[in-house]
Amino acid sequence: MAQRAGPPRSGVDATGLTSQRAAELLKESGPNVLPAAKTVPQWRKLLGELTHFFAVMLWCAAALAFIGGMPQLGIAIIVVVLVNGVFAHIQQERAQHAAAKLRGLLPADVSVRRDGRILRVHTSELVPGDAVVLSAGDRVPADVVFAAASGCAVDESMLTGESEAVSKTSGDSAWGGTFLVNGEADAVVSRTGGNTRLAGIAALTSGTVSPPTPLALELRRIVRLIAAVAMAVAGFFFLVSLLVGIPWRDAFLFAIGVAVALVPEGLLPTVTLSLAMGAQRMAARNALVRNLEAVETLGSTTFICTDKTGTLTQNRMNAVEVFTAAGRVKVRGEGYEPEADIEGDALSAATRTALAARAASQGRAVLHGSEWTAVGDPMEAAIDVLARRLSGPLPGDATPARRFAFDPRRRRESVIVGATLYVKGAPESVLPLCGKSTGPAAEEVETMASRGLRVIAVAVRKLPGPREHWLERPPEEVETGLALLGLIALHDPPRPDVGDVIRTAREAGISVGMITGDHPATAAAIAREIGLMGSPELVLEGALLPEDEQVLGALLDRDGIVVSRVSPEQKLRVAKALQGRGHVVAMTGDGVNDGPALQEADIGVAMGRSGTDVAREAADLVLLDDHFATIVAAIEQGRATYSNIHRFLTYHLTDNVAELTPFVIWALSGGQFPLALGVLQILALDIGTDLLPALALGGEKPGKGVLKRPPERRHLMDRQLMFRVFCVLGPVEAVMEMTAFSVVLFGGGWMRGDAQDTGLVMAASGAAFSAVVLGQLANAFACRSASLPPWKLGWLTNRLLSWAVLAEVGALAVCLFVVPFAALLGHLPPPPAGFVVAAVAVPAVFAADWAYKRLRRPAGGA
Ligand code: ADP
Ligand code: MG
Repeated sequence: MAQRAGPPRSGVDATGLTSQRAAELLKESGPNVLPAAKTVPQWRKLLGELTHFFAVMLWCAAALAFIGGMPQLGIAIIVVVLVNGVFAHIQQERAQHAAAKLRGLLPADVSVRRDGRILRVHTSELVPGDAVVLSAGDRVPADVVFAAASGCAVDESMLTGESEAVSKTSGDSAWGGTFLVNGEADAVVSRTGGNTRLAGIAALTSGTVSPPTPLALELRRIVRLIAAVAMAVAGFFFLVSLLVGIPWRDAFLFAIGVAVALVPEGLLPTVTLSLAMGAQRMAARNALVRNLEAVETLGSTTFICTDKTGTLTQNRMNAVEVFTAAGRVKVRGEGYEPEADIEGDALSAATRTALAARAASQGRAVLHGSEWTAVGDPMEAAIDVLARRLSGPLPGDATPARRFAFDPRRRRESVIVGATLYVKGAPESVLPLCGKSTGPAAEEVETMASRGLRVIAVAVRKLPGPREHWLERPPEEVETGLALLGLIALHDPPRPDVGDVIRTAREAGISVGMITGDHPATAAAIAREIGLMGSPELVLEGALLPEDEQVLGALLDRDGIVVSRVSPEQKLRVAKALQGRGHVVAMTGDGVNDGPALQEADIGVAMGRSGTDVAREAADLVLLDDHFATIVAAIEQGRATYSNIHRFLTYHLTDNVAELTPFVIWALSGGQFPLALGVLQILALDIGTDLLPALALGGEKPGKGVLKRPPERRHLMDRQLMFRVFCVLGPVEAVMEMTAFSVVLFGGGWMRGDAQDTGLVMAASGAAFSAVVLGQLANAFACRSASLPPWKLGWLTNRLLSWAVLAEVGALAVCLFVVPFAALLGHLPPPPAGFVVAAVAVPAVFAADWAYKRLRRPAGGA
């Protein structure tokens, strides 16, 4: 398919291998993949889980318990640390496994010559000796030596830190993992896999860790804050205990209990796992996140800046019209079939135009079985088809002596074949280079573009004098004094469902803007057709954007904005200006030069099919199907995951209120009123009954309403969450707990001053424990939605939660009725009255939750 720029060629043989030879070599050399980084052994990772901040706190607590003469407590805390560590370890492993699987889905194909043909193979199948065909934007798949190079520049910053691209000619080598940012090349693989320089460097740096992300930082802050509060409260209770004359040994015990009660041990691993589950669901919808935290950022996106071609449209181009000085020819054909209806009498001029445009193209239409498909750029394939339709059988592909490749700043591409220069490109880019008056053509461009057609101007130049002279000159000198042949108008149908998706995004409070390299009139016509265009209509041009960032921000910050003829630099400015207005920006990009804009945007979005490797490497999100709808689907899942984290945070913290209350009442009574829950019971709640429902909440699917409300950029521990936990759910659970305790206690005739370690107090404690477990059971359902009562969601719609709740009830029964457990926890099964009050905790939590939701959102929206 691709003709290569001819000389200068080096002595390197780039004819390629046979498939058979390649298969043999593959057995010898092994797959072309980096050897897995020396992984930290499992036991070391587990050790890490046992020695982080919380764990160390708990170890100290255990030590204190032993010193204080409470070995059972000490042992129990150690069990907590171990169970927690193992649990966290398993979750981290699962999350990492999920992330690794996602990385495997990233496209990694390369063009290679085998059996005299060019094939696409997975980079892992490359062997030394393979001849690869690279073009601008490709990742160099292994260490290679260039056999033929035309205008090549390689970005080696990932290996050398040098940001300036290095130009390469034939005979030069390039390292795997770098990017070809300019030109095209035939190259022969010299080393693969573990023998590449990248592998050497990776082995050196495998110990480094990536910096923490904003989400990780926020979580760490929350955790530290809670831990600090826990310590302070514990210290306070220690002092109160001493003041009321409790022996220091018991005071210690209380202090430890309070600290342990307040620390949300299972929080961090649950967050990680929840992000990984979100990422997996996104992948199932063709949206691949390249880091887990992007899942959360996606949820808060407020502005999507999208390409036109391929994302909003199908990128199935069809050349429908050719305009020349001799007249107009209309071409009606299907797809890339060579048959078509042709109408118009300026046939020979149109044919000349099409052939010239084809000479400057690499994309081709090829017959695949019985179907004609595009290979390479679909627009160039459409030009190939146009030439086929107009001229019948085509002349063989001549090898250009030189190519000035397409670049989004120049917006044109040209080649020298024989003594002729062929140029095709955006009309504004080509017409000014043409000598004679181009007035009628310029007018025609506007008319065609306003019908939503993409317009390409085609020109030629007979190069005077010796050809060799022109092979050395810079493009500005070669591309002048052109003769305009004509214009080609191409139709690219919008994706059929894109209008609906834009509406969905708007309902979700997300603004959508079109940022395109195409002509303003074409962009505007497509924007209108798919319903993207805002009102009043505003179509900007890249070159005319205001200098001032603030003015630019104010201008851009509107839904349905269209920015046309943008360069990669202007794209970057657009992203920055919108961020300056407080937006969380998702920006798509596919080109070699889109990297900076993709990195600047909060969510850089690259195309899995049509984009370059460079863009994919810079992106946070890769659309496997290149479809706009996939961005919105990813945002939906991102919001859902964020809500899930919010959900189990609410759930966990509510438990803390119920766990702390007995200590508060005990302290307020000056130690007169017995403790409703002991430290061991609290540990049983935290690591026993609470864990599974929290996990199940982390896997909640996106609700129907997720895209019906505006985006929120909020802290996890926001005021709404605090209010719900500390003023609604927590107090209700605590009241039911203390009521259950009191009913049994006073029902059994306990009086002030009686002993606090009798069977009666233990039975009362069993009632309090049951009330908390049952209250948390209801709470799990209540936390499923921030606005709907659980019966509106359907009780069984989160299957994981159904199982978790069953397990919770089972665990409660074991804790109460299996004697060794009950003895360890220090409680007894309560009398029926205790059970009844404990059971009332379920409707009580539901009622409070329902009242809260009604008052907060009376209309009962989603
Ligand atoms: P889009 O935002 O639609 O993807 P591009 O940046 O790809 O726009 O293209 C910008 C303009 O450059 C197009 O409108 C077209 O005029 C011109 N152009 C695009 N691809 C080519 C090509 N392969 N050869 C010549 N000109 C091209
Ligand atoms: Mg494009």
